[in-house]
Amino acid sequence: MNPLNFMSLPLNTFKQFENFGHSLKASSYCIQIKQTEDIYEAFQLAKRLGLKVTARGTGISYNDASLNGGGIVLKMTGMNQIQEWDPATGLVRCEAGVTLEQLWKRVEPDGWWPPVVSGTMKTTLGGCLSANIHGKNNFRAGPIGEHVIEFTAMTPTGALVTCSPTKNADLFYAMISGLGMLGVFTSITLKMKRIYSGLISVDAWHVPNLNRQLSSLLEHAPDHDYIVGWLDTFAHGKSLGRGQIHAASSLKEGEDPNAHATMQLSYQHLPDRLFGVMPKSLLHHFMNPFVNNLGWRAVNIAKYVTALRKHTFRQSHAEFHFLLDYVPNWERSFGRGGLIQYQSFLPKETAENAWRAMIELSHQRGLPSYLGVTKRHRPDKFLLTHAIDGFSLALDFKVTDKNRARLSQMLQEFDQIVLKQCGRFYFAKNSETSAESTRAFLGSEVVARFKKLKKRCDPNDLLESDLYRRVFR
Ligand SMILES: Cc1cc2nc3c(=O)[nH]c(=O)nc-3n(C[C@H](O)[C@H](O)[C@H](O)COP(=O)(O)OP(=O)(O)OC[C@H]3O[C@@H](n4cnc5c(N)ncnc54)[C@H](O)[C@@H]3O)c2cc1C
Repeated sequence: MNPLNFMSLPLNTFKQFENFGHSLKASSYCIQIKQTEDIYEAFQLAKRLGLKVTARGTGISYNDASLNGGGIVLKMTGMNQIQEWDPATGLVRCEAGVTLEQLWKRVEPDGWWPPVVSGTMKTTLGGCLSANIHGKNNFRAGPIGEHVIEFTAMTPTGALVTCSPTKNADLFYAMISGLGMLGVFTSITLKMKRIYSGLISVDAWHVPNLNRQLSSLLEHAPDHDYIVGWLDTFAHGKSLGRGQIHAASSLKEGEDPNAHATMQLSYQHLPDRLFGVMPKSLLHHFMNPFVNNLGWRAVNIAKYVTALRKHTFRQSHAEFHFLLDYVPNWERSFGRGGLIQYQSFLPKETAENAWRAMIELSHQRGLPSYLGVTKRHRPDKFLLTHAIDGFSLALDFKVTDKNRARLSQMLQEFDQIVLKQCGRFYFAKNSETSAESTRAFLGSEVVARFKKLKKRCDPNDLLESDLYRRVFR
């Protein structure tokens, strides 16, 4: 008998799940999914037991996207086969639990790279499609959904639907970005991007304030494949928004005389030890005492001083894209309360005013962000899109028992600033955005279209997550 054919779920499958930053927790029954049939059985079981279901990839969204308090979590990482890879065309078909790490390691030695990646390689393709992730090349390549040739998903009715931009197009544009609320991805076909070297050329320069930070992103994006800004979140007054821009371009054919060697996986490896001695897995323990307002102010100043030199250098793709993986478990250094991220997307015309207001508010309240990252974006056609012709700013905040309520209040005030300046929110990141704010930025018509599709795919409302209940209440 299939172990899922229980009338009820064994108690030992009830466990606590967390978000990436360990600041949110929810207990659920966990079902390990190994094949498509398991998803069908899980839906049947959930229906019988009256429980809600959420798919979960690696579970490293910054918020409650893959949490489902009191319900069932489908752990998708067991469906992790790369089913087909064609180095001649760059087309790859994967099960939804395949991670970006598995993917780039498979395609890179053949001269290809995933067209859009997150700042960590640990995410699964199912999670990436549900959030419709963006990379540092969003202004040029759009979100990951624009590189999906086709996917197959199971809806809670048990139907297996195959979607592409021309087949079941309404579901294609809604399931990608759809927070896993219309069905569970099983298989995804993507087109990779050609590369001619394992290296990428990076230009780095400093910017003295927010105005120059944003104008640099705007002016320099068209000349590069990728652009990203780091922002000193403690700087104020005339220096508010100062930081550093990294703008990178893939090397053209023939520009890397050692392309054969640099495209080997061994060249892309992020070392396990710092200075060849200290295991990086232990580093977060040493960072812990510095993760406070004073320590991070010093880190931001030191980083800005070292950023003053304008320079160009070459870096491996893995180093450039996955800097955040360099120190494993770095989020643990934020301590017991953990961390959350707040990412807002603002039109290029209003971004400066909005972010100045937010950063000043964070200083006034004594709740500074410890890390700020800016990117350049363009709009896309997906139903629950977060992108915009403008910029995004991601801010990391330390959460403590003492500041949790005040932080939550401040982030809700941030939401009002974003809405007033015609901005948007990203459902894989924000933890505070309410149903009212969601309706305000998406518009009632989009919310109604999404709910209509949900009724069609999920007539018994089986798919729900903590995030869904918060933003589509
Ligand atoms: C360090 C770090 C850096 C990041 N950088 C970026 C970045 O640069 N750009 C960006 O856009 N995002 C970024 N993110 C966010 C991250 O890419 C998304 O949250 C992504 O969804 C996480 O993937 P996951 O596999 O952990 O998904 P989970 O967190 O497990 O799930 C995310 C959503 O996907 C759904 N889901 C998961 N699997 C399936 C499936 N098979 N079928 C249907 N739905 C499914 C879940 O229900 C949930 O709604 C970053 C996150 C971290 C921790």
